Amino acid sequence: MSILVFIERQAERWHPMSWEALAAGQQIARELNVPLYAAAVGAGLAAALAEVTANRLDRAVALDNELLRDYSADGFVIALRQAIDKFSPTLVLFPHTYQVRDFAPNLAASLKRPFVSDAVAVRLTDGRLGFVRQMYQGKLHADVTLDGEPPFFASLQSGSFRADQLQPAGQTAPVETLTVAIDPSQIRTRSEAPFRESKGEVDLSSARIIVSVGRGIKEEDNIGLARELAEAIGGELAASRPICDNGWLPLERQIGSSGQTVSPKLYVALGISGAIQHVVGMKGSQTIVAINRDPTAPIFELADYGVAADLFEIVPALTKALRAAAE
Ligand SMILES: Cc1cc2nc3c(=O)[nH]c(=O)nc-3n(C[C@H](O)[C@H](O)[C@H](O)COP(=O)(O)OP(=O)(O)OC[C@H]3O[C@@H](n4cnc5c(N)ncnc54)[C@H](O)[C@@H]3O)c2cc1C
Repeated sequence: MSILVFIERQAERWHPMSWEALAAGQQIARELNVPLYAAAVGAGLAAALAEVTANRLDRAVALDNELLRDYSADGFVIALRQAIDKFSPTLVLFPHTYQVRDFAPNLAASLKRPFVSDAVAVRLTDGRLGFVRQMYQGKLHADVTLDGEPPFFASLQSGSFRADQLQPAGQTAPVETLTVAIDPSQIRTRSEAPFRESKGEVDLSSARIIVSVGRGIKEEDNIGLARELAEAIGGELAASRPICDNGWLPLERQIGSSGQTVSPKLYVALGISGAIQHVVGMKGSQTIVAINRDPTAPIFELADYGVAADLFEIVPALTKALRAAAE
């Protein structure tokens, strides 16, 4: 029995959600008392894995081949199949990133095994693995248990596990390079550069600070207030759905059940009521600050710090104070 966590390399760094998946892997491995492996797919990743072995695990594996330098679903499935053959993990865990969504169902299907996607929690009952998935826009939680033979496959929703709860290594784990046997003809697709919004290079799932704006902002012209605050604290701008529906900000910046799921260190909600469809996308944030003039707004049930006041008074003053502090 063992657990293998897939960690994703993105633009010369580990995708932040990889740390969350690793934290989940540590927790399950500890409870089941089984070894934990981390595996990355690419070319020449062994040196970068030193950062990963700073955390408690039994081995970090670089699944290596020059043909895997650029992402392809075919290549990643072949590489991980070879790691699964070698390590026979009971459970293969993934961060629920865009890349994982692309290849992990294919990997699981190639082994005729089920894939539990976008799970928000892991349950262990009498040593039996189960997962929790959200249904109907987060209104219901479903318990999913796994039958049959391992390996089992599951991806974890952003923010479901906390990277800051990763346990550091007592003794540094070895890094192993496994040369993947692969023929160029097996890779049938060539990926373009990963999606990024043309101007802002936005990847909200890895943003550390997010300033999110809701209908309380009233008019498109007022978005500038939120943008200035975001700039003053080095954050990304995001929004609730009505803002994106109005075309005031692009859809890529929408947070929620039909937008992005984020887990920044700091989430500042300006004039957002806290509807469930919004909350499912940001509840994993480490610290939530809400500014809303309605003290009964549901967002305050979630917020670590709440300001029940008019955002048009608070936000400019806050931006000014932050700028002054930075000078
Ligand atoms: C299928 C489905 C999917 C959905 N998906 C999403 C999604 O992905 N993301 C999402 O966000 N929503 C989603 N929604 C919409 C969701 O239900 C809510 O309607 C939406 O989140 C509300 O956005 P809001 O909080 O900005 O606006 P409102 O609910 O109108 O809240 C505005 C808030 O601003 C406050 N306010 C007003 N003026 C001021 C002021 N001057 N100063 C301070 N505060 C002020 C008010 O007190 C209020 O609480 C979805 C809905 C459905 C049905």
